[in-house]
Amino acid sequence: MTTAHEVLHDVFGYSAFRAGQEEIIQSLISGSNLLAVMPTGAGKSLCYQIPAIISERLTVVVSPLVALMDDQVQALQANGVGVVAIHSGAAREDNVVKWQKVARGECKLLYLSPERLMTPRMLSALEALNPALFVVDEAHCISKWGASFRPEYEQLSRLREAFSGATIAAFTATADKATRADIATKLFRGDGRIIVHGFDRPNLRLSVANKVTWKDQLMAFLADKKGQPGIVYCLSRKFTDEVAIYLMGEGLNAIPYHAGQSAEQRKTNQDRFMSEDGVIMVATIAFGMGIDKSDIRFVCHLNLPGSLEAYYQEIGRAGRDGEPAETMLLYGLSDTALRRQFIEQEDSGDDHKRREHKRLDALLAYCEASSCRRVSLLAYFDEASQPCGNCDNCLTPVKLLDGTQQAQMVLSTVIQTGQFFGTAHIIDVLRGAETQKVLERRHHDLPTHGIGKEHSKQYWQNFIRQVMAGGCLIANIQKFGGLEITARGRSVLSGDEPFMFREISKAKPAPVTPKKGGGPELSEDTAARLSDLKKLRLTIARERKVAAYIIFPDSTLIEMAQHRPQTLTDMATINGVGPKKLQEFGAQFLKVTAR
Ligand code: ADP
Ligand code: ZN
Repeated sequence: MTTAHEVLHDVFGYSAFRAGQEEIIQSLISGSNLLAVMPTGAGKSLCYQIPAIISERLTVVVSPLVALMDDQVQALQANGVGVVAIHSGAAREDNVVKWQKVARGECKLLYLSPERLMTPRMLSALEALNPALFVVDEAHCISKWGASFRPEYEQLSRLREAFSGATIAAFTATADKATRADIATKLFRGDGRIIVHGFDRPNLRLSVANKVTWKDQLMAFLADKKGQPGIVYCLSRKFTDEVAIYLMGEGLNAIPYHAGQSAEQRKTNQDRFMSEDGVIMVATIAFGMGIDKSDIRFVCHLNLPGSLEAYYQEIGRAGRDGEPAETMLLYGLSDTALRRQFIEQEDSGDDHKRREHKRLDALLAYCEASSCRRVSLLAYFDEASQPCGNCDNCLTPVKLLDGTQQAQMVLSTVIQTGQFFGTAHIIDVLRGAETQKVLERRHHDLPTHGIGKEHSKQYWQNFIRQVMAGGCLIANIQKFGGLEITARGRSVLSGDEPFMFREISKAKPAPVTPKKGGGPELSEDTAARLSDLKKLRLTIARERKVAAYIIFPDSTLIEMAQHRPQTLTDMATINGVGPKKLQEFGAQFLKVTAR
């Protein structure tokens, strides 16, 4: 029997397994069910593709998105593996032809959407083929505990009974403890292993900043990233267009992407991002799930993501090739209020809402963290770690000040006004404003009216945000965001507990200092060769209508540029050059490296 290592080398052209891969592969080969939780970019696909290639019998992969399936299929085909995806995005006749290939035993893997798999017809047709392995990708979608439950996934819990002779493997990048247990119960009644692997992505630099003037902050962030591909995430379609237009006006190669565009427009934009060099995709979260581009150098959030899970998945799209990549999250109070509103408007039970509010609280605490961000992020996923040295707080430690007195000023203003008003009004009272609302309610007669005069509105906004993140105040959504004091708030108010906060600079927000990052250091000569290799890759990718990284990932081209293989034998030693790709592209790339 071929070994996993041989397949890794002979089919994929890689020399070594990444952390966790071998254990999962061996486990699947020996036939035990498992749930593997690994971050985006860790290399989950290989974990089931290798057992699938080794097995004599069929492997069925369940995947939620057509784009995701097509991408995997192209990548496997480029390595000479027999594989098809049957889905609603393809013509009926095509699907029939594909099924015939599967039925003749010409495919190692069959990709299906959950709803297609679970039809009685498909189930009985598959039964005849006796599949060895069922793989459920994005397995968190089966759990109501998770953030992205999909009803069509629920059906998959019937797989266990329907195919008692098959192994079941589930993969996800995002699942907390409760969700993991739920997935394992639903998919294989708990009869299997749960393997959680390294959430840490040390090559991603983590930064979070208070959003004040997004244009300046975004431009500062992009200053040292000219010509690099990246994603800027926005919440609304309108804002997405606005940001893209702004960046284009600044001479950058930006394109918008959101669900308001036609399918055709979206496809064109996505293709440009995948195959052109250095495109900035300005997108809503509609973009990204099916994207498998490994050389994305940065992700910037201009609005607050939905949860830490979503945030982690979104920033996880950067730096999948393992090279340095930067992330930046800009957030403001209005985003928080909007998120709370979304949760309230959802058509779901109180329990669900409470959980979602808690999720948001965790995200806010991360944003306000004054020590290592990675430690707090990984802790959320149950992984202990040490300060990372590659986040904003590690690189520029924050100064904490005693803000007990100021917090007391805020808290008593909230109480004196009846725990009824939002931040804006509280700040008006603190600063001694005489707005109509203040005068009507006679709030200018309160003892706290004007006690916070010496600070600007922005200062107080920032401060109150920290008071909220510190768990002293909450915004009551039922009362339209009116601030209410918590138990911790009462204890700060009575002086039992101090309140520490991050120093707020009086000047404009310090622009994010452009730091060195992104991409390895290359000599001029090597860089020129790399650029030629990329051009060649783009030409081939366009001819074949696939994304550039399907031909070769960046890491492979960099290795080629550095090692300059002179013969096909040399070329075969480059990481990522398997026999199939060597045969198809080797000679062309050799022309550049041996020049
Ligand atoms: P995930 O599904 O976990 O997000 P992928 O399976 O898409 O990640 O893998 C991310 C990238 O890493 C892909 O380009 C893949 O080819 C590459 N990769 C996976 N395993 C290895 C390995 N052992 N050596 C080198 N590259 C690998
Ligand atoms: Zn850190």
